[in-house]
Amino acid sequence: MFERLPNIPDLEPGWVWLAGAGPGDPGLLTLLTLHALNQADSVVYDALVGQDILKLARPNAELLYAGKRGGKPSPKQHDISHRLIGLAREGKRVLRLKGGDPFVFGRGGEEALALVEAGIDFRIVPGVSAGIGGLAYAGIPLTHRDTNSAVTFVTGHNASGVVPDSVDWRAVAKGSDALVVYMPLKHIARISEMLVAAGREASEPAALVSKATMPDQQIVVSTLADIAADAAAAGLEPPAMFVVGQVVRLRAGLDWLGALSGTRLTPDPMGNRRLDDSA
Ligand code: SAH
Repeated sequence: MFERLPNIPDLEPGWVWLAGAGPGDPGLLTLLTLHALNQADSVVYDALVGQDILKLARPNAELLYAGKRGGKPSPKQHDISHRLIGLAREGKRVLRLKGGDPFVFGRGGEEALALVEAGIDFRIVPGVSAGIGGLAYAGIPLTHRDTNSAVTFVTGHNASGVVPDSVDWRAVAKGSDALVVYMPLKHIARISEMLVAAGREASEPAALVSKATMPDQQIVVSTLADIAADAAAAGLEPPAMFVVGQVVRLRAGLDWLGALSGTRLTPDPMGNRRLDDSA
């Protein structure tokens, strides 16, 4: 298969590829990441990378886990970078595999900078980020001509586990109709309250998408006022994405995954019949 793609580079010994594995569905891997899985001697992977994807690694590749385990704190970023550098210096073909896209809330930049400092050759392989591909699997487009022409991506969680005070939530609330929050679950009640306090309507559509693109994907559609209680009642588990804005309403028409198992789609979810007119 890769022979028929003449411009696809090989993962060379002594190199590190920092690659995204997408949100879960192995079908969303890029050809470059799949190629690297075929070639890597060492695959250093995070908690969000599932077994279905690791199964695609070369049979004798060593699989090295670099995420949290059994409630223990995650390995220090410094240790992970060191490990990548050590493996590359041993002449291994190293695949550093992260969930989603390595440069979106994934600390890929920090690891890449450590490689630069150590003089290790590397390539960045983008992946489908959960905030885009994950929401597509929930039938929620991020932009829609009738609702919004901007989207804000924000994190609901900082390194020490609290709502980031580096985020200006007032500005976020005003910035765009559609808001997409990574790592939202722990602080969902607080985040929703802050958005309402900053001027968003309590009745505004909001959704949480858990385990997006995975077989047990689960979605709670609600309002800013009720989403925290509804998510708790549904027992929603991480990882999850939080999306706020009128685009959430489109799910009623675009839940293509639900339609596969019989959900009826509403052809006009926004209640206006000019979606196909080009004016
Ligand atoms: N680099 C990743 C994000 C890492 S931060 C990316 O680009 O997607 C981890 C957060 O990503 C999770 O807390 C969750 O908010 C989100 N996430 C990743 N995979 C997800 C999935 N399959 N379903 C829902 N959210 C996901």
